[in-house]
Amino acid sequence: MHITLSENLSYCVGVKRTLKLVNELLEKNPDHSYYMLGEIVHNEYVINELKSKGLHIIRNLDDITDHGTVIIQSHGVPLKVLEELKQKNINYIDATCPMVRVIHHKIKKLEDQGFFPVIIGKKGHDEVRGIAGQVKRSLIIGHPEEVKPDLFCGIQKAGVVVQSTYIRTEAHAIVDELKSLGLEIKFKDTICQPTTQRQDEMKNLAGNFDCTLIIGSKTSANTNHLYRLASQTETCVYLVDEPESVKDLPIPKDSTVFISSGASTPMYLIERVISILTQEQINNKR
Ligand code: SF4
Repeated sequence: MHITLSENLSYCVGVKRTLKLVNELLEKNPDHSYYMLGEIVHNEYVINELKSKGLHIIRNLDDITDHGTVIIQSHGVPLKVLEELKQKNINYIDATCPMVRVIHHKIKKLEDQGFFPVIIGKKGHDEVRGIAGQVKRSLIIGHPEEVKPDLFCGIQKAGVVVQSTYIRTEAHAIVDELKSLGLEIKFKDTICQPTTQRQDEMKNLAGNFDCTLIIGSKTSANTNHLYRLASQTETCVYLVDEPESVKDLPIPKDSTVFISSGASTPMYLIERVISILTQEQINNKR
């Protein structure tokens, strides 16, 4: 087996930055309570590790039981959450990824310019909720088939932004559908640079290998997007969310294997997968 590693393994810069901040705070002030609204990343290993260090993951500010500090995670939050924090006099640290802040800024500007805000992204995702919460009203579109004339009744001008981890070709397909309704469209491609690099690499390289492994959680949007992109090639593709599961994958021992990961996958999980694959290879040779 010949293994090639992606140049974009493990955390993206945004997740790395937030995790560093959270870990430093937990280590420096072990007696202080830190709360995070929602999950910092969609990866249960990372979440469990932070919980074991004392981080409280909450869904609602009413879940705060003391004078602790709220850390706003990289996906960002709606404006009304910041207002509530201020009203309730709760200390907070805003660790929203700078690239998500750019999306917040752009959607507000589009609204100010008279364009009806449209977000291409996954309904219910924390980042999309945060983006929607920057403007008075918006529409969230996750798929070209969701673009229906009734939805845009009375709207002539739409200002479109995209969830940072969305697949670019799918975002463009949605924009084309919107244009076909005869709307005036102002489109801001807000897919972030780290996502672009990972997606481009996957499109360009996955087809060159017998098999591609994407390591990451099944609940992670960007991991699933990489899996979908790799699946567009004629080669075999596996999403590995639990390292030990690679032992059961039917990968022939002389295969060429490309390993990539979601932006929320810790390096130790990737190293574990590599270690299992190379160990299996040694065992097969014996
Ligand atoms: S995927 Fe992009 S926008 Fe999201 S946290 Fe990472 S760098 Fe920031």
